[in-house]
Amino acid sequence: MTLQSHEADFERTIGFGENALKFLKRNGNPAYPRNYEIWYTYSAGYNRDLNRAINGALDRQEHIDSALLERIYEEFISPTSLADQVGVTGEKVSEEIDQLLQRLEASSGNVGEYGAQLREAATTLSNADTQSAALVIKQVLIATRSMEERNALLEQQLNDSKEQISDLQHSLEAVRTETITDALTGLANRRHFDQSLERLMVQGRREDTPVCLVMGDIDHFKSFNDTYGHQTGDQVLKLVGMTIKQSVKGRDVATRYGGEEFGMILPQTAMDSAKIVAEQVRTAVQTKELVKRSTGETLGRISMSFGIAMMNDEDTPETILARADAALYKSKRDGRNRTTTENQLTADDRKAVA
Ligand code: GH3
Ligand code: MG
Ligand code: MG
Repeated sequence: MTLQSHEADFERTIGFGENALKFLKRNGNPAYPRNYEIWYTYSAGYNRDLNRAINGALDRQEHIDSALLERIYEEFISPTSLADQVGVTGEKVSEEIDQLLQRLEASSGNVGEYGAQLREAATTLSNADTQSAALVIKQVLIATRSMEERNALLEQQLNDSKEQISDLQHSLEAVRTETITDALTGLANRRHFDQSLERLMVQGRREDTPVCLVMGDIDHFKSFNDTYGHQTGDQVLKLVGMTIKQSVKGRDVATRYGGEEFGMILPQTAMDSAKIVAEQVRTAVQTKELVKRSTGETLGRISMSFGIAMMNDEDTPETILARADAALYKSKRDGRNRTTTENQLTADDRKAVA
């Protein structure tokens, strides 16, 4: 299965590469990696906006020259890294807020001017004859109407800004979620694990509540992959991810620590309860009979090993992780498919991680 998909990948991508070279030659573009990337992306058709821009340009002119390629790269390829996206979105938000402030400043100027006009009218009216009073009132009406118009415009602009800012807020939120999520399992990723462990340890100390760290690792997963292929292995990782999600509470942080290793940070949880959570995941994983959906083929079962450490007064993220890992490796040494707490570590095990 994996071999076939590699062959398919090979054929497809070589095709894109060959086309990219053709386009480079046809347009007289130097084969710099960046130019190649544009034409490769164009050939693959992954980036609809980029293809539209190139097709549009080709309708107007015969060749895509280097300057145009440069612009296309900047607009459609360059800001693809998440950090860049956050930067671009952040810039847009601050531009929008600047505009908003300018509008509000202009409007308070308008209000001040209107007030001055009214005050002047009041003074004139207090000792005016009928004819000049009528004139003053007419001027007041004109000033009021123009104020109304400006207010309506301002209201419209404020509403537009509000919508733009809320759109941008949503895209920032989406980007943020993407940066802390593991794409395969939907659990939090390693980066979020590191941040959360530090934060929850600080919180636990402040509130004087226990914090447990549970590390879990799939047993003999290499041979599972070797037997059934990486893609089926990925499905198993997803399944484990789902099982873990179902076993933790909202305040817990469940993460894919890396590869086939998972970490659960359990705030306000002492060792006994943490062990119950680990055992729940372990039993649920081990109980599931794996069946390949596409063929109905039975793949047997998998098991997981766990190690748990509870935060002590001197702990740093590194030391609690080292003890949870040591407990996990004791589970592996003792025959896998089990949960070990740091209390079961021998003096030698402890020395090894100290
Ligand atoms: P142990 O019981 O000692 O943990 O044995 P193991 O085979 O699980 O451990 P080892 O560290 O030797 O191998 C881990 C394997 O996990 C290697 C790789 O095949 C698999 N693996 C890691 N990340 C992924 C992934 O993203 N997808 C898939 N399908 N497999 C992965
Ligand atoms: Mg493993
Ligand atoms: Mg491992």
